[in-house]
Amino acid sequence: MLRKLPYGANYLNYAEMSELRQALEEKILFRYQTIVPSAASKLEEHVQDKFKVLKALGCHNCTESLRLSLLATRPKIGDPVYIPSVSFVAVAGAVLSCGLIPVIVDVDENFCLDASRLPAAIERLILVHMEGTVNPFPSGIPFVIEDCAQAMGGQYPDGAYVGTKGFAGCFSFHHNKVLTSGEGGLIVTNNTVAWERMRQYHDHGCQRKQGEYPTWSEDAFYGENCVISEVIAAIQLQQMRHLDEIQEGLERGYRILLEALSPSARFVVRRRQPNDVKLSLRLEFESHETRTAFENILKRKSLPFWTLEKYYLPDHPVFKIKGSIYGDGFPWNLAPQDIFVERDFSKTRDRLLRTICISVSPEYTQSQQFAEAEKYRQAIGQL
Ligand SMILES: *Cc1c(COP(=O)(O)O)cnc(C)c1O
Repeated sequence: MLRKLPYGANYLNYAEMSELRQALEEKILFRYQTIVPSAASKLEEHVQDKFKVLKALGCHNCTESLRLSLLATRPKIGDPVYIPSVSFVAVAGAVLSCGLIPVIVDVDENFCLDASRLPAAIERLILVHMEGTVNPFPSGIPFVIEDCAQAMGGQYPDGAYVGTKGFAGCFSFHHNKVLTSGEGGLIVTNNTVAWERMRQYHDHGCQRKQGEYPTWSEDAFYGENCVISEVIAAIQLQQMRHLDEIQEGLERGYRILLEALSPSARFVVRRRQPNDVKLSLRLEFESHETRTAFENILKRKSLPFWTLEKYYLPDHPVFKIKGSIYGDGFPWNLAPQDIFVERDFSKTRDRLLRTICISVSPEYTQSQQFAEAEKYRQAIGQL
């Protein structure tokens, strides 16, 4: 029996991990100590070629990638960073842990950030491509950081890959994402100055020469250590080689599902754009009650699905309680009371509670996908 989720894990294959075997045979797992080109640098080159971007940097996870990107904008403590109302809480955690204040902006009917709601002359925005949906890129903002944790391989209508239009793009290789190394993160950017800052900060603020002890320049700043291990980089490289295949499997499965589910008065299909990563088919029901009834049918039939209300941030404890690990409540203590939520988000909440995502299984053959789609068609028929 094939596992339906997560996608990346289905493609883990030791036989294809030549870089991992090489790293283990050489007995050097620190990227800056290798004698031959490191698996990490090979991974970064692969990503630069694939996504047509000047620079890539591996690091520990996407949350860290977001933090490094935010820090590379050289913000001042307490600066606001705009984030969408529907996104994973890691986005808020990344902002807060940099000493910055997340300001929630509402999303549209596709759960994409509604740029028309943004105040004028903002400096920083995290654009999140949720669940494979490519969020249109807003213009006129100096620092747009793209969170591509759920959308690796997605493309804008002009063909540019997600992550390559903004100041920086951040990716995750967590267990649940398109590709996986258990944990793992990656940053891409066309800004070479920003890349150098991130590289330094992620390596104790130092300058690095392969094989040598680090040095610190006269204008060095402090840093942290988020340097990627050779083991993780090698696994990610093996995963990256499957990206196109996963995309094709998702495209095909999505089309088959779309055709199988005939229109009904009880739901609408929220259609995806041509180059979205089609992780699921999204159905929006007339009411939460109808959705719950459909959920129960899917559960009885053991058909995979998920819902999105877990991503609704305005009600998340991080925003409700405004807790902090610091004794003085930092950085919430720096923010005026009314900066967090600028309007009523109940429409979005209602839409989330009426939405269900039917899982697309990219590793299935075409005939398996047809068989799977038929089961969902029957489930809809039982509503
Ligand atoms: C998973 C996820 C993250 C965090 O990624 P990690 O690699 O687990 O740190 C950030 N943003 C979104 C939208 C995610 O889905």
